[in-house]
Amino acid sequence: MNPTASKKVIFLGTGTSTGVPLLGCTCEVCMSTDARDKRLRSSILIEIASKKIAIDIGPDFRQQMFRANTSMLDACLITHAHKDHVGGLDEVRALNVFSKKPIDLYADIHAIHTIKKQYDYIFEAKNYPGIPQVNLHEIDEQSFELIHIKIQPIRVMHYKLPVLGFRIEDFTYITDANFISDEEKEKIKGTKILVLNALRKETHISHFTLDEALKIIEEIKPEKAYLTHISHHLGRYTDIEKELPSNVHLAYDELIIDF
Ligand SMILES: [Zn+2]
Ligand SMILES: [Zn+2]
Ligand SMILES: [Zn+2]
Repeated sequence: MNPTASKKVIFLGTGTSTGVPLLGCTCEVCMSTDARDKRLRSSILIEIASKKIAIDIGPDFRQQMFRANTSMLDACLITHAHKDHVGGLDEVRALNVFSKKPIDLYADIHAIHTIKKQYDYIFEAKNYPGIPQVNLHEIDEQSFELIHIKIQPIRVMHYKLPVLGFRIEDFTYITDANFISDEEKEKIKGTKILVLNALRKETHISHFTLDEALKIIEEIKPEKAYLTHISHHLGRYTDIEKELPSNVHLAYDELIIDF
């Protein structure tokens, strides 16, 4: 990989599993007219040179690809198989039409097990025409090369579910976690940009709170950190931004950062 190649991240979605606004809710966040308070389900698109890699493929995938003006992907990395992260898998049919090949999906054994169960029709031996074409690649905590790009998976825990975060050069993305071991934190150290899940201020069984996320950022000391997978309970973008350290920001949908 050419070190001077242009590298950017587009936040396709930054919301928790229900998205923000929450359907039917009239709280000040859900009623906000600020575009930065409208959050589709969490996912990012990484562009390195002319290659495009998505992390997760949630239920808003189709809309997100339209919004990002993108119709192709070179690969997709999966953090875990909760529906808000893999619920858009059927939509890869559109990508298959023009690329004329299966999409390469990288996931750990836990996610592969669930994906095969939830999308059994994709993986049946005798498939019918028109189903999504997917090549599943099993990964674990070991680094691997993907289209000449080194990917370093980071094992994190989402209550009892093992989840993968990913580091690509000096950019690290971790969603849906409430525990990172000291050993895995070593893999993150030195990263310039850290994206981390911060659901809300109140304690949650499987997600970092705002304070817990800030504590980890303080420990890792990236140049910049962005918070994602945000619930309407966290508060309005402009209110929370004022409370954050100067190197930490709330991510928002369609935010683009270079790394
Ligand atoms: Zn999630
Ligand atoms: Zn609300
Ligand atoms: Zn989850």
